[in-house]
Parts: sequence; C-alpha cells; structure tokens
Amino acid sequence: MQDEASLLASIPNQLFIGGEWVDSTSGRTIDVIDPSTGRVIKTIADASVEDGARAMDAASAAQESWAATAPRVRGEILRKAFDLLQERADDFALLMTLEMGKPLAEARGEVAYGGEFLRWFSEEAVRISGRYGSNPEGTGRMIVTHLPVGPSFLITPWNFPLAMATRKIAPALAAGCTAIIKPAELTPLTTLLFAQLLKDAGLPDGVLGVITTSASGEVSAPIIADPRLRKLSFTGSTPVGVRLLKQAADGVLRTSMELGGNAPFIVFEDADLDRAVEGAMQAKFRNIGQACTAANRFIVHESVAEEFATRVTAAVAALKVGRGTEAGITIGPLINEAAVDKAQSLVDDAVSRGAELRAGGKRVTGDGTFFEPTVLSGVTAGSEILSQEIFGPVLAIVPFTDEADAVAKANDTQYGLVGYVYTRDLARGQRLIESLQTGMMGLNVGVVSNAAAPFGGVKQSGLGREGGAEGIGEYLETKYVLTPNPFA
Ligand code: NAP
Repeated sequence: MQDEASLLASIPNQLFIGGEWVDSTSGRTIDVIDPSTGRVIKTIADASVEDGARAMDAASAAQESWAATAPRVRGEILRKAFDLLQERADDFALLMTLEMGKPLAEARGEVAYGGEFLRWFSEEAVRISGRYGSNPEGTGRMIVTHLPVGPSFLITPWNFPLAMATRKIAPALAAGCTAIIKPAELTPLTTLLFAQLLKDAGLPDGVLGVITTSASGEVSAPIIADPRLRKLSFTGSTPVGVRLLKQAADGVLRTSMELGGNAPFIVFEDADLDRAVEGAMQAKFRNIGQACTAANRFIVHESVAEEFATRVTAAVAALKVGRGTEAGITIGPLINEAAVDKAQSLVDDAVSRGAELRAGGKRVTGDGTFFEPTVLSGVTAGSEILSQEIFGPVLAIVPFTDEADAVAKANDTQYGLVGYVYTRDLARGQRLIESLQTGMMGLNVGVVSNAAAPFGGVKQSGLGREGGAEGIGEYLETKYVLTPNPFA
C-alpha cells in the first residue's frame, strides 16, 4: 500500500473531459478535507458552468460510437476495470478513508462491493435482449428491442464514494450510454481516481466525464436542461431529489432517484437475540451510521426491549472511535460539523422527551468531527429522531406491543427504502414482506446490499432500481416494431 502522502500526490486534481485531464475554466479550486483531522488533504479543480457544457459536448459526441461498440467490448472494458480495481484495492480503500473517514476495513469492504457492479454489469452488457413473435391477430410480427437511452448525468453523494459511482457508471456504460458524473464536493477524489482507472482499462475518450464542483446546483442545472441529455440518475437526499425531479420534468428526462431512508429494524419476541444484536450493530454502525440503509428506528417487542437494549449497549462499549487509518478502529468521524450538530440535536431532543441515554450521547472532544456511539431506549412518539434520517452512530429503541403495532410504527414515515425484521416465525416473516412499505427487506440479516440485487426504495425513498437484472434497464429504452406477416 502506498503511504498517504504519495497516494494523495498521485490523485488527479483536474476535471476529466473528453478523455483528458483538463483545468477548470474558472481557475477556482476546491479544498478536500480529512474529517478525522479537519486538515486539507488535496486541492482540486472547481468546475464552472462552461466546464459542464464541455463535458456535455464530449458525452454527446461519443454517444453514437459507444452505442455502436459491441456489447462484448463494452463488457470487457468493465471487466478489465474490475481486475484493475482488485490490483489497486488498497489505494482506493485508503483514499476513501482519508476523504470520507470510514475505517479502513470498511473501506476495503466498499472496494469489494463497489467492484462487484463492474463485474456484474460486464456480464449484463451481453444479455441485453429482445423478443420477436406474432401479434394476436396473426397479421404481423412484433419486435421488441432495447436501445441505450443516451447521454446520462450521474450525481452521487459523499457517503459511499466508490460504490455509488460504480453502481451508476457500470450499468450506464454496459447499456451503451455515455455519462457525466458529478461526485459530492466533500468526497470527489475517489471518483477522480476511478476515472483514471477506467481510462487505463481502455475506455474510449468522451464516454465518461467527471466534473467536480463547489456549485452543484449552478453547474448541474444547464446540463439537466440540455436537450442532448436523456437521463438523470441521482443518489442523495430526498429534498435535493425532489428539486432535480422538477428540473428533469422540463426535458421529460428518464430519471432514477435513490433517496433518503428511515429504516425500521423490528425485533419480535421470538427473534434470535444474538443474531438480532449482531445485525443491529451492522445495520446501525456500518459507515459510522451514515448510510441510506442505516437502521434508524429499532422497534423492539416490549417483552425483549430491555434485554435488547442491555445487549446492544454492551456491544457498543466494544466499539473503538478514532481515525479510520488506525488499527482496530470501528467508528470514524462524521463527515462534517453539521453532521455532529444534527446528531447532538436529535439525541438532546429524544432525551428531553423522555428517552433514556444508555451510552454515548455527545461529541468527542479534540480534532475532527467525531460523535460517540450512542444508545437511547424508550424513545417516545413525536421525537425528531424517529422522523429524520439520523446519519450518525445513534441507536434509538422504541418498544411495541403486537405485530400490528410494529407494522404501524414501521410504516409511519414518508421514507420506504429498507426494513429489517428479526423473527423465527416463518409466516410472520412472510406477512412482513408484504406489509412493510419498503423497496427492500432484510429478514434476519442486517445488511442487504448486493450488486446482483435490485436496490431501491418506495414512497419518498425514490424511483427505479440499481443493480441486479433491473439495473441495466434504467439505461435502456424499449422500442417496439411491427412488420407484416411475411407469409401473408
Ligand atoms: P445531498 O446533499 O442530497 O447531495 C447528493 C449529491 O447531490 C451531491 O453530489 C451534491 O453535491 C448534489 N447536489 C446537491 N444539491 C444539488 C443541486 N441543487 N443540483 C445538483 N446536484 C446537487 O446528499 P448527501 O448529503 O451527499 O448524501 C446523503 C443523502 O444521500 C442521505 O439522504 C442518504 O440517505 C442518501 N443516500 C441514498 C442512497 C440510496 O441508494 N437510496 C445511497 C446513499 C445515500 P454537493 O454536495 O457537492 O453540493
């Protein structure tokens, strides 16, 4: 593994447009900060509206030839990228820990997870199929085929810098779409390094552009309004997603929206509590609680709520807070000061409304933006922590009385990304599959993400699915053709 300084020195600091590393026309720069120290680790180009237009020109120019490139060739470039990522896994992991803060072991896990989208969609590229058959009247033949949507604009959040990029880039390229990606200002370095990796894997010029900017709204709006753009894929918060959907409506763009979550984690009285606690620790504390799939509300049967709280409090005592590069660290920093303030205010609000603080509860003093892993039990209805995404290492327990009460509490949110259910009762588990208003569910497991699965939400958690057989469909148009019966 390279050391931090040499790795950071090797990361491109320019925009990636038309297959070249280029300066921003504005001449402005962005400072990227390590949240565990508060120090600037790299200064990179800050794209202007003109740079966005240049990226759009390049994506548009490359679209026709990329769509005409054989699916096998597109797939093999993605497969080569997968192989290169394995070789450079340590660099990508360290870079994510430096710019985002997650512990190195989790960053390695994200390299593995993010890489799987490259392998999966390298395999899907050659499976874009259609159908041919008689119309019901027998007077004609119907052909259904799938074609690339066209140039796509991909906007990603800061919390999974590699996986959120590969989950969009891989299906777009596999489908034959060119793309422009705009990573979050807070964690742009991983996307820049990944663009270099794709170039090394043989991606033709212009097929992917990367624009990093401190003015996301100003630079994105003209791209979304450009008539050459055909698709907008966004992962981020629900309020920004709603705003972008409105902008996309003007051009009647295809959209995929992976938005916020407020996951319920339901523990029934018959659950295997050892497994439930293990799953809870993953579902809550993975990525320092900063995941859209993070369990937000632990809805636990009143007969086991105290036991569950005691056990998770003991497990939380074993967590180790610190800089993610250090051995044994399991909880890194939150992304910035605003995230710490939010966690603090949600904890204070819950306690003021009667919740019991069992562990943690406050900021860690010193450098960086660390928050103590926290457990709250007996959280009362109306507490803000039950309706907002916590996005921090705070585990909030709410007791329930019976299955109907659990389902009502779980569904009492505008979000619907994922839910977790722990029970040994098969029929109850099956009922919950249908009664939980979520796009995904973990049944006796605390992590569901998989490149082979359709990831996505219902209600205000979004539209569309990423990954699985469904993922490539987000970048394909369906075309229907009718021809006369050739025998008539
Ligand atoms: P965010 O503030 O909504 O930002 C997401 C992305 O949108 C960033 O690249 C951001 O750029 C950009 N952006 C913000 N305003 C924009 C605008 N007006 N026009 C164009 N782009 C704009 O979300 P975040 O704080 O980065 O990420 C956390 C959120 O993402 C949480 O709500 C989480 O649940 C959600 N998330 C969802 C999933 C999922 O799959 N459903 C996965 C991961 C995260 P700048 O930050 O540079 O302004």
